[in-house]
Amino acid sequence: MRYIEPHGHMVSRTTDDYRDMVTAGCACVCEPAFWAGYDRSSVHGFYDYFCQLTDYEPKRAAKFGLPHYCWLCINPKESEDVGLAKDVIGIIPQFLDRPNVLGIGEIGLNKNSRNEMQVLEMHVDLAANHNQLILVHTPHLEDKLKGTRLILDVLKSDSRIQPERVIIDHVEEHTAQLVLDRGHWAGMTLYPESKCTGARAIDIFERFGSERLWMNSACDWGVSVPLAVPHAALEMRKRQWTAEKIDSVIYGNPIRFMSQTPKFKSPA
Ligand SMILES: [Zn+2]
Repeated sequence: MRYIEPHGHMVSRTTDDYRDMVTAGCACVCEPAFWAGYDRSSVHGFYDYFCQLTDYEPKRAAKFGLPHYCWLCINPKESEDVGLAKDVIGIIPQFLDRPNVLGIGEIGLNKNSRNEMQVLEMHVDLAANHNQLILVHTPHLEDKLKGTRLILDVLKSDSRIQPERVIIDHVEEHTAQLVLDRGHWAGMTLYPESKCTGARAIDIFERFGSERLWMNSACDWGVSVPLAVPHAALEMRKRQWTAEKIDSVIYGNPIRFMSQTPKFKSPA
């Protein structure tokens, strides 16, 4: 089996996780910028984090033979402070030329607040100005449907944004169709306790098609399973999916989306 982990917060994982992922067939990992489990006190904390994502973490992954890519932003959870967000967005362009940066993400909404919306618009403008791919986080549980609609409208209102160059992550049964109908890609996050289980993700593939859908484990500092994608592939086998079909979803789909930036080198 070979697969790509298109959304993994590796800075919060151990080297054992890297070893296990590569052993399971992981061919490359992509790490969106995220909340650190605490609010950073200034722009300097983000500067250091962006150095970690673009310099230190790729070297750590390389020790396991694993190519590492990343996305940059100030995540929605820390976007309530618009002044801080402006400062952070101001330092991002100096990192965009680094070889492992795929685009802007994971941007989006957390509580669907007015300040988060303003910061989302600033990120979309940044991505459009620098012709970057976009990876979007959608809110949890009861805020998800409303937040997804708000995000889709922000993206639609900027005529420079090409829908197929945006992936909306953490979709579930009630948001997948909305996202796909707008021409975007959709991501499903496999969590043991919330978001989507492997079995539910496969139901979603079988219902909505697999053309513009991918799966990820998120594997962050909270309860999460770094091998959730290959575990879901085992479930696909049980449902009589062919090896080719499984490969096209867990390996081919992330490559098709990310190859829209020349920075991404297909591991094949
Ligand atoms: Zn994430």
